[in-house]
Amino acid sequence: MKHSIALTHLTRVFGHAQFRLLQERAIDRTLDRLDSLVVMPTGGGKSLCYQIPALCFEGLTVVVSPLVALMKDQVDQLTGNGVAAACLHAGQDVEVQQAVVQALRSRSMRLLYVSPERIAASAQRFLDFLEPLQPVLFAVDEAHCISDWGHDFRPDYRCLSALKQRFPEVPLLALTATADARTRADICQQLGIDTDGIMVSGFNRPNLRYAVWPRGRGQVELLSYLEARRGESGIVYARSRKSTEDLAEALQARGLKAEAYHAGLDKSVRDAVQDRFKRDETRVVVATVAFGMGVDKPNVRFVVHHHMPRHLEGYYQETGRAGRDGLPAEALLLYGPGDRSFWEHMLNKEESTPDPHALDKLQAMVRYAETTTCRRQMLLRYFEEESERYCGQCDNCLMRPVQATWDAREAMSLLLKALWELEGRVGLNLVVDLLRGADHARLREEHRSLSTYGKGAFLARTAWLELGREARLRGWVDVAPPPYPIWSLSAKGMHWLESKEALWLEPPAGQAARETRRKEVLSKPLVEVLHPELLAALKAYRSATAQRVGLPPYALFSDQTLLALSNQMPTTTAQLYRVAGLGEAKVKKYGTELLGVIAPFAQGKTNVHEPNPLPLKAVSRSARESLSLFHSGQTIEDIMQQRALSRNTVEDHLLQGLYDGHVPLNQLVSPESQTIIRAALAQQKSHSLKETFESLGGRYPYFELKAVRGKMEE
Ligand code: ADP
Ligand code: ZN
Repeated sequence: MKHSIALTHLTRVFGHAQFRLLQERAIDRTLDRLDSLVVMPTGGGKSLCYQIPALCFEGLTVVVSPLVALMKDQVDQLTGNGVAAACLHAGQDVEVQQAVVQALRSRSMRLLYVSPERIAASAQRFLDFLEPLQPVLFAVDEAHCISDWGHDFRPDYRCLSALKQRFPEVPLLALTATADARTRADICQQLGIDTDGIMVSGFNRPNLRYAVWPRGRGQVELLSYLEARRGESGIVYARSRKSTEDLAEALQARGLKAEAYHAGLDKSVRDAVQDRFKRDETRVVVATVAFGMGVDKPNVRFVVHHHMPRHLEGYYQETGRAGRDGLPAEALLLYGPGDRSFWEHMLNKEESTPDPHALDKLQAMVRYAETTTCRRQMLLRYFEEESERYCGQCDNCLMRPVQATWDAREAMSLLLKALWELEGRVGLNLVVDLLRGADHARLREEHRSLSTYGKGAFLARTAWLELGREARLRGWVDVAPPPYPIWSLSAKGMHWLESKEALWLEPPAGQAARETRRKEVLSKPLVEVLHPELLAALKAYRSATAQRVGLPPYALFSDQTLLALSNQMPTTTAQLYRVAGLGEAKVKKYGTELLGVIAPFAQGKTNVHEPNPLPLKAVSRSARESLSLFHSGQTIEDIMQQRALSRNTVEDHLLQGLYDGHVPLNQLVSPESQTIIRAALAQQKSHSLKETFESLGGRYPYFELKAVRGKMEE
């Protein structure tokens, strides 16, 4: 990083150890006084891109932000970190506004958040007001709102074009989570940003885990999922107002703190639901898609869709509300066979389809729901982004290797041949009846005379239906829209039928096992909690304190901070500083209290530097996760941050991998160091690593000593 002062502010004020890649570039550019447009997915860390330069520059940074709730949260969080920040919007009392203006004139503010309406109402006057305050930086959040190419055009944003004209020397930073190429160009043109300044970090949300689950009957599946996520915050999207209420009621009956939210409720009721959700009093909001804009709660751990949405754009946006704090979160789609026909029916009903691509989009959504390959890859491809073949964090990847051990050629060709013989006159159910040689009235004589009649008795009915699904997924059949979903062989299917290329699938009997496994994968905890009682105590402390100081809990301490506190169990102030999200202001204000909460749990904690005398035999599940990150090229620091674990824990995981033969010693300790450490270890008399550590003058960390010794003892 070019401007190292930025890093000092990051650690001291925000308590984070390092910048993310794009943050670093954006901040460097801004500190060079260049204009930029940053496109980063939700949770990517856009705020720091202007908050850090705001601290580096001596003067006032003006942030334009469209949502009052978001603005307030940001101001609360900054104030909590000891940064002078305030906001101006139309909903404030006159006295409050006057106090803010006063503070601005006395030059004691570093960041001012304003709504675009506030500027648009009297643009000239507002700019006149800013001029003597000599702003040093402008940030425009949700910048796509300025463009009518974007999906969320707001006319008030247009007045922002005046910023660059009036203050040509002041750097301007525009930020958004969603903007395609055309929208990006438009934003730059309107705000006067050079297109060289566009920085894009892609759509991927690495901390989101994607999964699809058969919906099953009633609410059984949903309830069992939520049971596994008890105590976490989440959103369940339902299709209609009525079903949000029914579902919420069913959840309440199970003792879950759930509430319904939809546009038919009074605004005051909706605001109250949102408020309770933010304060963690309501855990689950069951909502229609009306619950969206303005859900800025960062610690939403899961988003469940009770039915399939109509396109992936919507799905991506709705699931994007999970995991804004960067901790692992989950997007679960409950999918049923009726979902596709529901939307087909709706699209047919719409007199003039506003979107000519609606059917293609639906098709892509169905492919996502039905695929047996990586879902993240499918989602990213839809947004024209290439990705790895296996993400390792979707249900399908987690269930790999898929046991494709069944040679399905014969069965598939029988199915396709039957379809060909039938010349597209029947639905799948009847095809299966025919193959299995059923003898009922709907099978006419002409059906019975076909060559495929009765040839498929060797497979169960469910297996045939499953095979049909596979054929459809591969595009080998065409299915007419309801109400008469007639199946016919497609050209692609015909092609396969002629070539009969190898076709290996999971054996039909394996499907039950697969569903069991899918459930196991999904009920895995999202984040690793080493000391659940301590975490609960910290959460209780956070709730009580947040209420006392009048903040939403997450604005006081993020979930990530609490998790790190409970996993790492710091016992001294110096150790507190190493916890992500604890900067100077927070440690000074709450440090003693936090240590007080931790102390009873930390008693009896073993000395972390004491070497592990014996190599560990089995590699724990948690260690496997760290190891897979390590194998994908992440450093120890990356893993610590991503998993909110202490250095000791991550190092211990790598040692487990080393002892177990998953990690070569050379990857952990350089060959030169190995030679020196080995020599020192050989001379040592007692079993104490401390002795070796000291004999080497403390130049080699315990971690390296343990690694080398572990391999010597083999
Ligand atoms: P966005 O506005 O892009 O949705 P935010 O600015 O709200 O994202 O940041 C999302 C989360 O990531 C916040 O909890 C923030 O504290 C955290 N975060 C941002 N940058 C870093 C960083 N460099 N290191 C650790 N955490 C970070
Ligand atoms: Zn995947």
